[in-house]
Amino acid sequence: MNPSDTVLATICARIKVAAKQAGYGPVKLLAVSKTRPAANLRQLADQGQQHFGENYVQEALSKQRELADTDLQWHFIGPLQSNKCRDVAQHFDWLESLDRHKLIEPLSRLRPSSRGPLNVLIEVNIDAEPGKSGCAPEQIAVLAELITKAPMLRLRGLMAIPAPHEDPPLQQTAFRRMRKLFEQLREGYPPVDTLSMGMSDDFETAIAEGATEVRIGTRLFGPRH
Ligand SMILES: *Cc1c(COP(=O)(O)O)cnc(C)c1O
Repeated sequence: MNPSDTVLATICARIKVAAKQAGYGPVKLLAVSKTRPAANLRQLADQGQQHFGENYVQEALSKQRELADTDLQWHFIGPLQSNKCRDVAQHFDWLESLDRHKLIEPLSRLRPSSRGPLNVLIEVNIDAEPGKSGCAPEQIAVLAELITKAPMLRLRGLMAIPAPHEDPPLQQTAFRRMRKLFEQLREGYPPVDTLSMGMSDDFETAIAEGATEVRIGTRLFGPRH
């Protein structure tokens, strides 16, 4: 057996255990594959991993071409510049980092109808870190309304990258605040079903606090260089 087989299986098993303990329902694994060659993605795809997250548009498009024979779901998770809206609208299944209203109209207009609506998460700067992407919690409602009105976008939920804390209880509060915002959003928009939070070092804490999707890179692929 290839060593990466056990890595994926181990992570999936840990996610399952954490999800069962948390009791919020199943948790999806997004394999974060920025900087990894297409061959690494294919290895995981061959073992059944379907969702991949990419941060850089050009890098992602080149891997998509190499993996065109697969049926993978591509999530854009990096900061999105306006001039990349066309590429994301045309080539991704999900956008997890929508954080300002300016992006909404072009994304919807440039989405090919043959692909169906683009799934969208609003990224929240939950720890109000200066210079970091993500909207303020107070802006969620307005963005949600605009996304819902855009014909080729489908609002699916929220994403966050909390500030790293040495102290697990502090980390926990950020995840807990996100879960609250997610539940508030879902009251107004029942189809909302995705709360993307938790990475290699904190995914089990995130799941305990109600993540429905975790984004894992390093622990699946090894350290990035
Ligand atoms: C890189 C990245 C991850 C994965 O981080 P790891 O610590 O390698 O698991 C998750 N989410 C986003 C938005 C990222 O950019």
